[in-house]
Amino acid sequence: MPRCLVTGGAGFIGSHLVERLLELGHEVTILDDLSTGQRPNLDRVVSHPKCELRVGSITDPVVLGEVVRGVDVIYHLAAAVGVKLVADDPVRTIETNIYPFDVLLRLAVQGGNAGKGPRIFLASTSEVYGKNPKERWCEEDDLLLGPTSRPRWAYGCSKAIDEFLALAYHRKYNLKIVVGRFFNVVGPRQVGHYGMVIPRFVDQALDGGPVVVYDDGGQTRCFAHVREVVDSIIRLMETEAAVGRIFNIGSDEAVTIRQLAEEIISRVDSKVKIDYLPYHRAYGEDFEDVRRRVPDVTRLAETIGSKPVIPLGAILDDIIRWKRAERGK
Ligand code: UDP
Repeated sequence: MPRCLVTGGAGFIGSHLVERLLELGHEVTILDDLSTGQRPNLDRVVSHPKCELRVGSITDPVVLGEVVRGVDVIYHLAAAVGVKLVADDPVRTIETNIYPFDVLLRLAVQGGNAGKGPRIFLASTSEVYGKNPKERWCEEDDLLLGPTSRPRWAYGCSKAIDEFLALAYHRKYNLKIVVGRFFNVVGPRQVGHYGMVIPRFVDQALDGGPVVVYDDGGQTRCFAHVREVVDSIIRLMETEAAVGRIFNIGSDEAVTIRQLAEEIISRVDSKVKIDYLPYHRAYGEDFEDVRRRVPDVTRLAETIGSKPVIPLGAILDDIIRWKRAERGK
């Protein structure tokens, strides 16, 4: 059974990935500084005999060197995440997302050349497409980032650099790397502090409202359940044909944010009202949103034989059930 390292393993997606890997019998080391990740996310796994938690930062090259030694697979999920966090602290975004990944790649090359180093999954993001106006985004589409004066684009830009690095190391050193671009991953354990819309709307609705929609609510997204996203990641890492390639990972069921608010309200309390807030009041003057974000997931489906399909209604039911249980604790 493979030995895995999951950076960011105490985070929302990371903790679900760790659980699934342990269920499959893998050995897992988690590296997390518990900044946006949280220890309670690991309640179900910390005492597992095949799980080790290392509290430390990926920005510390010594720690990275220690945890990389001897592993077969690295899932690199540690990053500065969330539109709000990125807008509030662009320096942290850039420094967390670029330099540590470069160090990680060097360590992987040292650990075994000519394809014998660990396999690496790079968690990238649909933010790399920026504000491309296309209906559906394919992996080979152009990246259309906004100006550097708007901090939001630092996130997509920093992840695009990571992707260039990953593919360059694959070509030059034959490192076995897979890049996944996540599209709005949601589910139990996701928190709203960093801007994520669904946990915020569910909390607002459970508190009696209003649910606060930014702008006119006509912006479009696709929401995938974290369980299916995690399965896609693991399948990709088991598939030889995925190596050296980039994959959109997400749902392709599009919904406007206004519809999303209405769906949540109808499930929680139909008396709750919607308020509309201009972007500048939510994120400051220099904020820019992405109007439409829908992936083409053909490549993923053809490569692993499946794609995220859980419908939005079932996802919302799951999240609302979890939120209610958390509040009852
Ligand atoms: N959004 C909103 N109210 C909130 C948080 C987000 O209307 O309290 C909107 C936001 O403007 C965006 C969409 O919901 O258009 C998704 O936001 P999120 O931060 O979850 O993800 P991303 O912007 O990265 O798609």
